[in-house]
Amino acid sequence: MSDLKKLEIWFLTGSQHLYGEETLKKVDLHAATIARSLNDNKLVPVTVTFKPVVKTPEEIGKACAEANNSPGCIGVITWMHTFSPAKMWINGLKILHKPLLHLHTQFNRDIPWNEIDMDFMNLNQSAHGDREFGFILSRMRINRKVVTGHWEDKEVIAKIADWTRAAAGWHDWQGARFVRFGDNMRQVSVTEGDKVEAEYKFGYSVNTHGVGDLVLMINEVKEKEVDDLTRIYQDQYSMSEDLKKGNPRHGSLRDAARIELGLKHFLEQGKFKGFTDTFEDLHGLKQLPGIGAQRLMNAGYGFGAEGDWKTAALVRAMKTMATGLGGGNSFMEDYTYHFNPDNELVLGAHMLEICESIATGKPSCEIHPLGIGGKEDPVRLVFNSGAGQALNVSIVDMGNRFRMLVNEVNAVSPVQSLPKLPVARVLWKPYPDLKRGCTAWILAGGAHHTCYSQNLSTECMEDFASMAGIEFVVIGKNTDIYQFKNELRWNDAYYQLRS
Ligand code: MN
Repeated sequence: MSDLKKLEIWFLTGSQHLYGEETLKKVDLHAATIARSLNDNKLVPVTVTFKPVVKTPEEIGKACAEANNSPGCIGVITWMHTFSPAKMWINGLKILHKPLLHLHTQFNRDIPWNEIDMDFMNLNQSAHGDREFGFILSRMRINRKVVTGHWEDKEVIAKIADWTRAAAGWHDWQGARFVRFGDNMRQVSVTEGDKVEAEYKFGYSVNTHGVGDLVLMINEVKEKEVDDLTRIYQDQYSMSEDLKKGNPRHGSLRDAARIELGLKHFLEQGKFKGFTDTFEDLHGLKQLPGIGAQRLMNAGYGFGAEGDWKTAALVRAMKTMATGLGGGNSFMEDYTYHFNPDNELVLGAHMLEICESIATGKPSCEIHPLGIGGKEDPVRLVFNSGAGQALNVSIVDMGNRFRMLVNEVNAVSPVQSLPKLPVARVLWKPYPDLKRGCTAWILAGGAHHTCYSQNLSTECMEDFASMAGIEFVVIGKNTDIYQFKNELRWNDAYYQLRS
C-alpha cells in the first residue's frame, strides 16, 4: 500500500474583495495556519495543501478546474472565514468532481469578550459566511461532508482524518482494474451485479480472464522463486510438520507457493488491484488458492471468492483507506452461529481466504482436505483474530442502485480452542444484538460476503458511500427493526424518484 502522504487535499478559503487588502491578508494567513496545522497533525494521513484565498467567480472556477486536473489532488476542503457570496461559487462547484468537505470552523476558538469590536466581527464571520456556502451546496444537491467545530478540536480533526481516508480509497478506485478468474459461482445472486454501472458509478473496471491465462503464468514461475517463497513461509509461520522440507506434503507447499507467485506476477503485469477466483473453475490449478490469496490480501490486493468482484473491490478500497492504522481488513463470510442465549455469537471465516492482517499471533501454515472443488488439498494459514470493535461492510446491487450496508460488531476472543477447525476464524457479536443485527442485515439484503474491518469507522464508510453517491445503511447500537424497515422503504421511494 502506498504512502497516503503523496496524496493532497486542497484547503480552499472563500472571501470577496469587499473587505479590503488588510482583512484579506489576515484571511490568507489564518487559512494557511489551519491548513498547516491539519497537515502536521499525525492523525491526518494525507498532505493538506493551502491554496490562496479565492475572491471572484473566475478565481473559484480556476481553483475547481485545477483541483479536477491535478492527479495528486484527492479532495477539497472549503471554509468561508468571511462572507463569500455563493453565486460566485456556482460555476466552480458545477464542474468540481473531487470529494468536498465543508469545514465549518472559525479561526478563534473563544469570543474575546473585552476586545471584541466590529473589525473582529467582520473578519470572524464564518457563522454566517458558511451558511451562505452551505445553501448553495444544498440548492445544487451536491454531496459533501460538513464538519463543525474549532479546527484544533480533536473530534473535528478525527472527522477530517476519516474523510481524507475515504477520499484516498475513492481516489484509488478511479481507473482501478480488477480481474476475475472465471465467472460467478453458478446460480449465486448476491455476488452478481452490473459491472457497467459499477464502472460508471465507482470508476473501476472488472474484466474476466480464463483461469488458463493464470495457469500459464504459474507454469512460468522459476524454481528459485519457489525456493525463496517457501523459505519465507517457513520463517513467518508455524509450519505443520507434514509440510516441512523432506516430509510427504512438502510438494503441496511448493505448489501453493507457485500459485501465489503466478497470481502475483499476473496482478503486477496487468496492473490489477485485486482479483476473484471460483472453486468451480480451477482448470489446470492444482489447488484452490489459499495461502496465496491470504498473503496477497495482506499485501494490499482486494480479493473476493466465488467471483465476488464487488467485495474484492471493497476490500481493496478499505485496505487503502486504512493505510498506516493498526489492525487489518479482510474478506469475510458469516459462516455459522452460536445461538446460546447467554452468549450469542457469529463465527466468521471462509473456506480458506481470510487475510492475515487480522491475525493475533503467528499464523500456522497447514494443509487439509477441502470437500469442494475437486482439487488437491490446499495449503492455508490458520489463526484467530482479536477482540475489539469492528465492522462488516457489504455492497449489494439493488437493481436501480448500489447499497452499502455496515454492521457494527464487537469481536470477542475465542471461547474454546476449535482444534478441528482448519481455517482462520473470527468471533463477533453484532450490534444491537445477534437477533436484531442479523434480522436487519437479512432485511437489507446484505451479502454473506463482506469486508471485515478492525480499524475503519462507520463514519469513514459513510463518507466513502457519499463520495460514490450510493445508498448507505447502518446497523448499530441504536437499530430498531421497525424504524429500520421504514428506512429501507423510504430509501426505496427516494431512489425510485431519483432514477
Ligand atoms: Mn463464500
